[in-house]
Amino acid sequence: GPVLGLEASCDETATALLAPDGTILAEAVRSQLAEHTPYGGVVPEIAARAHLAHLPALADQVMREAGIGPADLGGIAATAGPGLIGGLIVGATFGKGMAIAHNLPFVAVNHLEGHALTARLPGLVEGGVDFPYLLLLLSGGHCQCVAVEGLGRYRRLGSTLDDAVGEAFDKSAKLMGLPWPGGPALEKLAASGDPTRFHLPRPMLGRPGCDFSFSGLKTAVAQSIPKLATDQDRADLAAAFQRVVAAVLADRARNALGMLPGATAMVVAGGVAANQSVRAALAAEASRAGLPLIAPPIRLCTDNAVMIAWAGIERLRAGWTDPLDHAPRPRWPLAELAAPSAEPER
Ligand code: ATP
Ligand code: MG
Ligand code: FE
Repeated sequence: GPVLGLEASCDETATALLAPDGTILAEAVRSQLAEHTPYGGVVPEIAARAHLAHLPALADQVMREAGIGPADLGGIAATAGPGLIGGLIVGATFGKGMAIAHNLPFVAVNHLEGHALTARLPGLVEGGVDFPYLLLLLSGGHCQCVAVEGLGRYRRLGSTLDDAVGEAFDKSAKLMGLPWPGGPALEKLAASGDPTRFHLPRPMLGRPGCDFSFSGLKTAVAQSIPKLATDQDRADLAAAFQRVVAAVLADRARNALGMLPGATAMVVAGGVAANQSVRAALAAEASRAGLPLIAPPIRLCTDNAVMIAWAGIERLRAGWTDPLDHAPRPRWPLAELAAPSAEPER
């Protein structure tokens, strides 16, 4: 039967119902933007309470939309880490409750594995995506190059030494006086800017490996703020920042591909993958290597429950389930994941 996915690890409450073949039957996301905006960032306690208030209704909603009752389900997949512990407990406990009540298999999904496997959702890429591939995880909380070598088999090739790339967008946008979350606002402002006017450092560019660093760039943005007088000045700085980030990501991605010979594709995930300049720079880099860039639709790049249900399906197919006393983990690196012994067909 279909698998119900539950996601409550950060500031999106999300549910999804997927058929065993991965077809999306229904999906729902409720952003907590309104709750957190007054504080200029996610407040963990507020997030946990909002997940608790909204998750049950969102689970009902996708089941009703798909015309499916709990007895028809084939399993429950809930995010069990990494993330904010309060939300993780809400989501995982709700999922376990349903699993107990209806005698269903339960899968405790690693949120990052959800992002990593999204590219393999049937229907997204013609013919599917085979292992191994390069994943660039570019979000507000993560900035990593990951070799996706199989289900449960992830090797971190590089990561940020300080800020995540989305965090860099958010902090720089805040310095420019833009509303939180800054990434989308900064991209909009940059559209009318001249990227050549301000000269910003390009951290890590040309260095070996594929680690990232963004704090120096943020400092350079801060130092440029006093020079801003007009809206055009702000747009020019935003455009310069965006161009530097795109160039740095492309440079890191190139090195990462060099560390994963045999890669079948470059895949992006995370909110920053919504940025058109970033996508264009990465697409150029992938095509230089003769590989496709796979950028899932934006709603599947940011936090969602479709990816959690899909990861659950991949694991269930491989015969994997988790015990009902599985404890959520606020820190849970991909490299510490268990790999099911039986590989799925694809
Ligand atoms: P994680 O998933 O790692 O726990 P998160 O919830 O912050 O963290 P996402 O929801 O995937 O991650 O992405 C949000 C981030 O993406 C924010 O930092 C936001 O500013 C950034 N972002 C969203 N859209 C854009 C855009 N168009 N350009 C640049 N950055 C963007
Ligand atoms: Mg988010
Ligand atoms: Fe995420």
